[in-house]
Amino acid sequence: MTVQPNSIEARDAAYHMHSYTNARVLEAEGPLIIEEGDGIYVTDNSGKRYIEGMSGLWSVAVGFGEDRLAKVANDQMRKLPYYHTFAQRSHTPSAELAEKLIQMAPVAMSKVYFTNSGSEANDTMVKLLWYRSNALGKPEKKKIISRIKGYHGITVASGSLTGLPYNHMSFDLPIPQVMHAGCPHYSAFAQDGESEADFVARLARELDELIQAEGPDTIAGFIGEPVMGAGGVIVPPEGYWKAIQDVLKKYDILLIADEVICGFGRTGQMFGSQTMGIEPDIMVLSKQLSSSYIPFSALMMNDRTYQPIADETARIGTFGHGFTGSGHPVGAAVSLENLKIIEENDLVGNAARMSPLFLDRLNRLAAHDLAKEMRGIGLIGALELHPQGDATGKAGPALVNACMERGLILRPLGDSVAFCPPLIITEDQVNQMFDIVDEAIASLS
Ligand code: PLP
Repeated sequence: MTVQPNSIEARDAAYHMHSYTNARVLEAEGPLIIEEGDGIYVTDNSGKRYIEGMSGLWSVAVGFGEDRLAKVANDQMRKLPYYHTFAQRSHTPSAELAEKLIQMAPVAMSKVYFTNSGSEANDTMVKLLWYRSNALGKPEKKKIISRIKGYHGITVASGSLTGLPYNHMSFDLPIPQVMHAGCPHYSAFAQDGESEADFVARLARELDELIQAEGPDTIAGFIGEPVMGAGGVIVPPEGYWKAIQDVLKKYDILLIADEVICGFGRTGQMFGSQTMGIEPDIMVLSKQLSSSYIPFSALMMNDRTYQPIADETARIGTFGHGFTGSGHPVGAAVSLENLKIIEENDLVGNAARMSPLFLDRLNRLAAHDLAKEMRGIGLIGALELHPQGDATGKAGPALVNACMERGLILRPLGDSVAFCPPLIITEDQVNQMFDIVDEAIASLS
């Protein structure tokens, strides 16, 4: 790609440092500028249209260009564009959204705390666990177990919870309070001759051993995505979550379900915790909560999590935590309307109805010579390719580039390619998307 002088690409490359980008390549090649979006499609500044097969970053559930969200944001901006939720202040949108989320929760939850991103929510979650342990007179109970390949964000604490090398390298992470248990990816991590049931039993046993070795009284929580997203779309084997929960219950360790990707329909039910049979103490929500029309996130916690924290705020005199944007009225209003759209249009049902076709087309791709395996559930999936030669991490980008040329945006995750289309996708559009991938993969052989 050559960058025209003074073009928007050249100005972006000159002044804008990007996330998840090789800065030197960006400086040389410039970015892709996306101008607009409509339904499952986005259009770049040359007028080329793409299917957004990743819903942006796993997030635009209702599709692009949803007028109802634009209207609600506009109305709220005119009425009350900002107010905070510090020091006993609130406003109608955040009060109503908190009530709505508690009603929607798949297990009994007591309170909602609002934040602005998945990372901030997980960072806040870590602080809540520490605060709670101190409140309970257990100052040693501060460690948190996450998993290899889990993704929980990029702040100092949430980036530590993340179990992926790029999020730690040169950042001096993880912090010492975080440790990583095994990843439930059977085909990648099973030992020779190990059945799925044996694999699950071993992961549970290893978790138990890790807890024993660290000291059960030092572990505050265990966090996991019901289905891992950025780590490669890893659907755990049957029985995995039950086995993990049995271990955690033995030691009175809180379970945190990171629903940032799975929440609000992605797995074909409202929450991934329902699909996977998880009974969390804390749920972390973002992305499809507002369809990412505006940065917004939330934590939901049950009573046994909340009560000691509330007592501690009374003892100290305040809860010394809060973001200027916590429960932002525009974000809350947009999120409420977004949840209404998801419910009124039965987008969770649509995800469940589209899923068999989606998974079948993914499965057919897995028969290709270049493919190693497919993984998926609901409307989230991945195709893993064989590494190109001995270079891992090149096969995914090669397929993603071939799809881009043909008008489909997907996301490479090492040698895997992720699929996560908006929940509004139709049968024809699922077929369109996979027809492009069929052609793209054939072009690589
Ligand atoms: N948790 C999960 C499961 C995620 O997938 C992500 C982002 O992809 C995050 C947390 C972090 O969210 P954010 O990028 O909004 O900080």
